[in-house]
Amino acid sequence: GFMYEANQIVAYILDQIGDMVRPGVKTFEFEELAQEICKEKGVRPSFQGYHGFPFALCCSVNEEIVHGFPSERVLEDGDIVSFDMGVIYEGFHGDSARTFAVGEVDDEATKLMDVTRTSLMLGIEQACPGNNLYDVSAAVQRHVEDNGMAVIRRFVGHGIGRNLHEKPEVPNFVPQTGQGITLKAGMVIAIEPMVALGEYEVEIMPDKWTAVTKDRLRAAHFEHSVAITADGPKILSLSARDGSHK
Ligand code: MG
Ligand code: MG
Repeated sequence: GFMYEANQIVAYILDQIGDMVRPGVKTFEFEELAQEICKEKGVRPSFQGYHGFPFALCCSVNEEIVHGFPSERVLEDGDIVSFDMGVIYEGFHGDSARTFAVGEVDDEATKLMDVTRTSLMLGIEQACPGNNLYDVSAAVQRHVEDNGMAVIRRFVGHGIGRNLHEKPEVPNFVPQTGQGITLKAGMVIAIEPMVALGEYEVEIMPDKWTAVTKDRLRAAHFEHSVAITADGPKILSLSARDGSHK
């Protein structure tokens, strides 16, 4: 369906971006690439203009968690860089994010990215009809905290469809109060753990968008849009490069 197509375009854009990540590239070059592919595919970027966000792509380096601006900043060996991309295809949104290593990164950064990616996959496994939404949240939180890292609480995943952000909110931790909804076949949710090496407190930079960790330790972000089906979770934004779809 359209949601699958939208997310496959996002996956393709992130694949192309990933191929371009290396020391010496300006982050704005990724914005240009994303815009170019959107034009080529005849889709609109979801984020540009969303609550006034100025770009198609979010580009967040090191201690930046999410909503960073593409800029003249040059990526350096040892950086980690997170890209978050969304497109609208036939009225439906796709949304996915990945963090990449720039050149050679230290072991902490490698572990941070591995833990974040794995926490996403563990969350996705719980996205089955009849499960509680917070089963997803708990699986993400458990893996992150078992590895001595922190889940960002200020930002959460979301339902997705004709709108970029729909109900329900999909926290990456189990909230102290309230109950999660029961997941049903036909729902589509964006699960997006943001994980910090240090504490989860967030600061917003003067550009009013870029979210950084208060302690300035690094953070990673992985996101998939996932359809809940009678056969279990289907990752709509899985790259064609990653083989057969579940
Ligand atoms: Mg996103
Ligand atoms: Mg999202």
